[in-house]
Amino acid sequence: RRCIIMKRLLGILIFITITILSIACGHPDPLTKTAVVMDTVVTLEAVDGEREQAIDEGMAYLQRIDALASQNEGSDLEALRLAAGNGAWVEISPEVFEMLEISQEWAAKTDGAFDVTVGPVVWLWGIGTEYAKVPGEAELAEARSHVGWQKLELDKETTSARLTEPGMRLHLGAIAKGYAIDGLRAIFAKHHVKNGLVSLGGSSIYAFGESPKGKPWRIGIRHPRSEDAKEYLAVAPLSDAALSSSGDYERYFEQDGVRYHHIFNPAIGRPATSGVLGVTVVAQGDHAGTLTDILTTTLFVMGEEKGKAFLENSGIDASALFITQDGSTFHFTAAQSGNAPAMRDVLTDVSQTVEWK
Ligand code: AMP
Ligand code: MG
Repeated sequence: RRCIIMKRLLGILIFITITILSIACGHPDPLTKTAVVMDTVVTLEAVDGEREQAIDEGMAYLQRIDALASQNEGSDLEALRLAAGNGAWVEISPEVFEMLEISQEWAAKTDGAFDVTVGPVVWLWGIGTEYAKVPGEAELAEARSHVGWQKLELDKETTSARLTEPGMRLHLGAIAKGYAIDGLRAIFAKHHVKNGLVSLGGSSIYAFGESPKGKPWRIGIRHPRSEDAKEYLAVAPLSDAALSSSGDYERYFEQDGVRYHHIFNPAIGRPATSGVLGVTVVAQGDHAGTLTDILTTTLFVMGEEKGKAFLENSGIDASALFITQDGSTFHFTAAQSGNAPAMRDVLTDVSQTVEWK
């Protein structure tokens, strides 16, 4: 009997030792799953907690948001487009409603630099599709006349929306991934994942806690002129924070030496030519995923000077990195606003000039 007790004690001792060791050394093998969702390669990684459930529920959630934010038959956005100008309110899903509510708030704040009613222009140019083209002046003027955030109306009571003019349509490409990041954070929290990483195509990322090495996650900031998406200009250490990037290298085509990319200046209906090649934003706190996604697109449209001033005066807790080019030299300019000290450190680390051969 004594022998059995000794064996049990020994068993408990071994269990405790292994637990202490695995906590001290970090979890050796995070669970990682990759899938193609939201038009991009999604990677969900959980180091601790109910890893399997968190990741599987996360993937299912992304598929749901993908369908909701799409323009497919039967989607909210298609229903709104079909009803545009006929006066009827269209009841939409709470998720799409929330995205539109936040979008409208930012459209007002940014004087329309961020505007989800840019849809007709996105559609006309078709950047990233096989029918991409530089449109003629007349069709461009026509598409542009259907853009304007004041012509999108929302009714919170009935979670309904309407587009007040025919020819209008929405596009959620600049916010959906960031919004989904915040949804994933809620799912990971529910399943007690304190350390992990979620990446939607590398352009919207959230780092939970620390990597298995017990250090902040290391997030590469993509080289804006390299074909290889894994060639980084810099690496940002990230912990409990969201990072988002927008750039003219994500989706574009070239004609007569001009690069036509997918981030539009809604005021003119053309790809923004602000002198910026890429913007990366980091932020912490509630809605940091949504905030960083909206900000990268917005700051790209505004350009370095206007964007910096906007950020510094806005009081938003976020830091941004603008990448500009001068011949073969890339410049990083960091700007920051509000109370984001940890973020400032992340970006001053990479705030430098990089020579590219
Ligand atoms: P992102 O990669 O987050 O900068 O989002 C770019 C996508 O958002 C584009 O593919 C367009 O569908 C859409 N978009 C482009 N310009 C704007 C804009 N100024 N405001 C809102 N959405 C935009
Ligand atoms: Mg965006």
